[in-house]
Amino acid sequence: MSETLIRADGLSVGFPMGKGLFNKSILKAVDNVTMHIDKGSFFGLVGESGSGKTTLGRAMLNAVPITDGHAYFSDGEVAYDLRSISKTELKDYRKRAQLIFQDPYAALSPRMTVRDIIAEPLEVMKLTKSREETDQRVREIAAKCRLNLEHLRRFPHAFSGGQRQRISIARALVSGPKFVVADESVAALDVSIQADVLNLLKQLQKELGLTFLFISHDLSVVAHTCDHVAVMYLGRLVETAPTRQLFAQPRHPYTKALCSAIPSLDPDDRGKAQKLQGEIPSPTNQPSGCKFHTRCVYAIERCKKEEPHLEEDATGHGVACHRWQELIEPTLEMAVN
Ligand code: SF4
Repeated sequence: MSETLIRADGLSVGFPMGKGLFNKSILKAVDNVTMHIDKGSFFGLVGESGSGKTTLGRAMLNAVPITDGHAYFSDGEVAYDLRSISKTELKDYRKRAQLIFQDPYAALSPRMTVRDIIAEPLEVMKLTKSREETDQRVREIAAKCRLNLEHLRRFPHAFSGGQRQRISIARALVSGPKFVVADESVAALDVSIQADVLNLLKQLQKELGLTFLFISHDLSVVAHTCDHVAVMYLGRLVETAPTRQLFAQPRHPYTKALCSAIPSLDPDDRGKAQKLQGEIPSPTNQPSGCKFHTRCVYAIERCKKEEPHLEEDATGHGVACHRWQELIEPTLEMAVN
């Protein structure tokens, strides 16, 4: 049986919005999320921008405060409740959980050599005892990330986007983390380079025994890379399933719309994309009931009043929709309100 590395249990992240003593309104970026990521898995988190996926990833890194619920990390050596983690534990957690940034151009200091960029986490966290040891660790991880040793003396501007992202990956992995959040880590790259970087991440996952939370708005990338997927909408998880299962038979209308928009080479599939109506609502003004009802073509009166909860079956496929069972029937007729 798979072991869980990190688990969110009713996790919420809210940010105070109002100014002044009496204005205590809260923007809920992540709302009551329960999910777990197994050790060694490549877990995809998808949704439109504004769905809260980046904030959830940051909460699992303890980079933003968890305002409700918990996140538990356990790698066999240590076990932490991230909501009540002590300063000493947090220092240790920083080396076990790392982030690969989205933009390889903005993430690297132009004034530092590649060697210094990769070495910085080791020096800041005091993980090595001498410069020789630091250099050794930098050389090892650079080689694993397919960087030439001569690259270490150069500055980031001398590199292409793909090479810069490999430098970012080496920097994130040099401390020997177990859990890595890759936040839109290939979104800024050309398609051909994306495949190269994704292959590298998969290879490193196997070689180093890493567990990934791969955040992306691009379902086609997630379909080819991840073994489990969770779909977020307006701070909530609306569907979660093993990747094959989710793409073979998505259950939530939002997931269906996202899946139908994946470009297909099959001419019969063209023109079948279900267009999502309108924009994702503002987190400051969330709809009542099901948060998706303002854009859902299957919404009924119940959806406006009652919030559906994510229910998982024995196969690990969970969905938060009042009508999902009807919707997988081929004879479905759209609701007429
Ligand atoms: Fe659509 Fe209703 Fe299901 Fe929400 S609960 S996704 S509004 S059918």
